[in-house]
Amino acid sequence: MASTTCWDCGQVAHMTPVEGAAVVKTADFFRHRVMGCFRCDGCGAFNIAIALGNPKSSDSALAWLAGRKKLEWVPKEPKKLQIKPFPDVPTPIAAAATEAYTCRLGNNCRAAVLLARSVIEATAKDKGITKKTLIAKIDAMLEQGLIRPHVRDGAHEVRYLGNEMAHGDLAQSVSPADADLVLTLMSEVLDDVYESPARVERAKAGREARQLQADQLAALAQGKPLPAVSPAVASILQAWSQGAVPGQQPTRPSASRQAKPSSDQGSS
Ligand SMILES: [Zn+2]
Repeated sequence: MASTTCWDCGQVAHMTPVEGAAVVKTADFFRHRVMGCFRCDGCGAFNIAIALGNPKSSDSALAWLAGRKKLEWVPKEPKKLQIKPFPDVPTPIAAAATEAYTCRLGNNCRAAVLLARSVIEATAKDKGITKKTLIAKIDAMLEQGLIRPHVRDGAHEVRYLGNEMAHGDLAQSVSPADADLVLTLMSEVLDDVYESPARVERAKAGREARQLQADQLAALAQGKPLPAVSPAVASILQAWSQGAVPGQQPTRPSASRQAKPSSDQGSS
């Protein structure tokens, strides 16, 4: 009984022999490369089994392969999809986006696409876009500068595929590759709207924090009042004092240990 992890659906499945086998000669008279075509019982995709050996004939090669314990299978299983973290996305939207990935990992590709469509719609609503249709909401995100033109086009592709299912056209099959692409396009929308701006804000706050430390040291040296600290900079300084800044760790000037920056010092 031949079984393997199917390259297409990612499930460990029994492989049923179907017609099609070849005995490819090698330099070794007794051991040729025997190849046969099998169908995944899970998703129906073809998987090819290969083994070295010498079956009696090409006709018997498939049965010979099916009886082997050790087989090489091609294509190889694709790299496992990783669930992408969404640290800067509002919790309900991030949870739905993560759930879309979880659906895909469970091979529930239609559910993954439907959730991805919902995530894009929820993102527009979160940004105050109340237009009636998803097509108008996506276009409004571009008009408001929330997403770039090619990301808008990607969002529409998610909408096209998601619409068919949302409107009851379930005859449309969704392959794992389709679902993977949809998840990538959904993630790009979240990156443009939330994650990329948050990264830029962290970089700006980090730069301001470094400048503030320099200003504080200068003020201390000159006996002047300490400069004011904005909440964003205060949180960066606090993270530094705990030894970490998520995603970015600016070099702390060694003299900074002498300064005691905090948000309530500035106005004194
Ligand atoms: Zn399969």
